[in-house]
Amino acid sequence: MEASAAAAGTLLLGCGERGCSSSRPFQEVKQADVVVVGAGLSGLMAARELVKAGVDDVLVLEARERVGGLTISQAIGDGIVVDGGGQWVGEGHTRILALAEELGVATTETYGDGVPVFYFNGARMAGTGQVFDGVRMPGTGQVFTHDERIELAQVRQKLTEMAAALPADAPWDAPRAAEYDQLSMFNWLRENTRHESVHRTVGYAVNFTFGAKPEDISLLCFLVAIRACGGLESLLATSDAQDKSFAGGSQSLSLTMARELGDRVILGAPVRRIVDPPGEPARVETDRLVILARRVVVAMMPADTRRIEFEPELPELRSGLVKNWTGVSDYKAHVVYKTAFWRGLQLSGTVIADDAVIDFVFDSSPPGGSPGVLLAFGAGEQVPSDTNARKDAVTAALAKFFGREALEPTGFVEMDWMSEAWSSGCASPLKPGVLSAYGRALRAPVGRIHWAGTDTSPVWSGFMEGAVRSGERAAGEVIAALRESGVAVPAAPPPASAG
Ligand SMILES: Cc1cc2nc3c(=O)[nH]c(=O)nc-3n(C[C@H](O)[C@H](O)[C@H](O)COP(=O)(O)OP(=O)(O)OC[C@H]3O[C@@H](n4cnc5c(N)ncnc54)[C@H](O)[C@@H]3O)c2cc1C
Repeated sequence: MEASAAAAGTLLLGCGERGCSSSRPFQEVKQADVVVVGAGLSGLMAARELVKAGVDDVLVLEARERVGGLTISQAIGDGIVVDGGGQWVGEGHTRILALAEELGVATTETYGDGVPVFYFNGARMAGTGQVFDGVRMPGTGQVFTHDERIELAQVRQKLTEMAAALPADAPWDAPRAAEYDQLSMFNWLRENTRHESVHRTVGYAVNFTFGAKPEDISLLCFLVAIRACGGLESLLATSDAQDKSFAGGSQSLSLTMARELGDRVILGAPVRRIVDPPGEPARVETDRLVILARRVVVAMMPADTRRIEFEPELPELRSGLVKNWTGVSDYKAHVVYKTAFWRGLQLSGTVIADDAVIDFVFDSSPPGGSPGVLLAFGAGEQVPSDTNARKDAVTAALAKFFGREALEPTGFVEMDWMSEAWSSGCASPLKPGVLSAYGRALRAPVGRIHWAGTDTSPVWSGFMEGAVRSGERAAGEVIAALRESGVAVPAAPPPASAG
């Protein structure tokens, strides 16, 4: 297969030809230099970088009938969209902001005036303190005592220092990695706090970041997240991660990249099997297509790859990583009002609550606040399964936070990632023991197969920024491998520091 020849390479697989025994009848066979599996931000970014570098013959196979993966724009009327998945970016997200500029996708600022509401144990309080800066105590809303504030500052300092000492590229190789990975965040907090209030506050930070209880996430995993964002402050502070969103929704980045890539992107094509025989092209199989390729980029959460059969079987370390990877899903509802009425009450629209249905709320209105849009995150299993009951429960919760006006929405759209067949989760809280045992398999290519996806990025993993960086990094790896095997790739690979 020459770099220039493959786009045209389509043949029908007949009996007796290589692979016939395992192929389904009438599978079309194509050739490509590179197959990218998954058309989320990471996969499309990898394909875009490859094409930019002159590797023209790239195919992207996407299981869904749409691109964007964990980003999706949902219409709320009058040409306005909201983000059902990934939404905010911030100053620290340099690669995705550069990409948006290249693609001509504008950003809008997050509304930042007014005060948040805290709702705990049935009591509502609007206050100037952010729950994570130690002014207010989750659970009671009371102001922290002097001692509690000092302890909270010490815990934050300790976590920040431990995270900073980890090698960004290989935290699992840190001298104390195994020790950190044996402890859950819950147990670490029990050993390192005297005040229950401090334990609980940091527990909220864990829940806010990962949608998981401190019992279910290892200390090492939390430290890696802090390291990836450049510090605990960045992980939690809105200025670095949450101060902008994309006009037209985050999915517009993927939609624009897919438009550029044209018929290289094939939708409705779930990859079922990847065969990587020694000395022959890799073989990527969907129900109706077989693609023979020099290199393959699998661009998704490791848990998503459980749906793909690999032949030969993945090495022990990689299959351990895949089997033990945890993805947790979220529920997001956007509730639309004529105007952002809470702004008139000097409220920011942010809520932090221990409510059974909704635990976090943010103002997600378009600039100008008309219509007003409140974004509510589901608190977990107690979100009702019936659609109407769910809408009533969400608006009832909002009324507890913002008053009776919240009972009169003009629109309601929701996105339940738990019911999405092709996503294993929105975030990856890993249990004790997983990262130290299997982390080194996260990015290591297996034969001709390379791995992308936000979780593989040492920088801003779990965010859209990490996805973009991982696509750049995987494209760079593939370009280097193609060159090594004698394929002429005209342009320079993406920056090695991309992550
Ligand atoms: C509710 C929610 C809120 C979020 N909020 C933010 C936020 O505010 N800011 C932020 O930066 N990030 C946020 N994120 C995270 C962000 O959206 C993701 O990190 C990012 O979009 C991941 O991109 P990806 O390419 O790594 O993976 P994905 O988007 O998951 O892409 C993987 C793709 O692979 C496809 N696929 C899976 N299996 C197969 C198969 N067998 N064959 C072919 N295709 C397959 C999937 O359909 C998908 O399109 C949020 C996510 C969610 C869900």
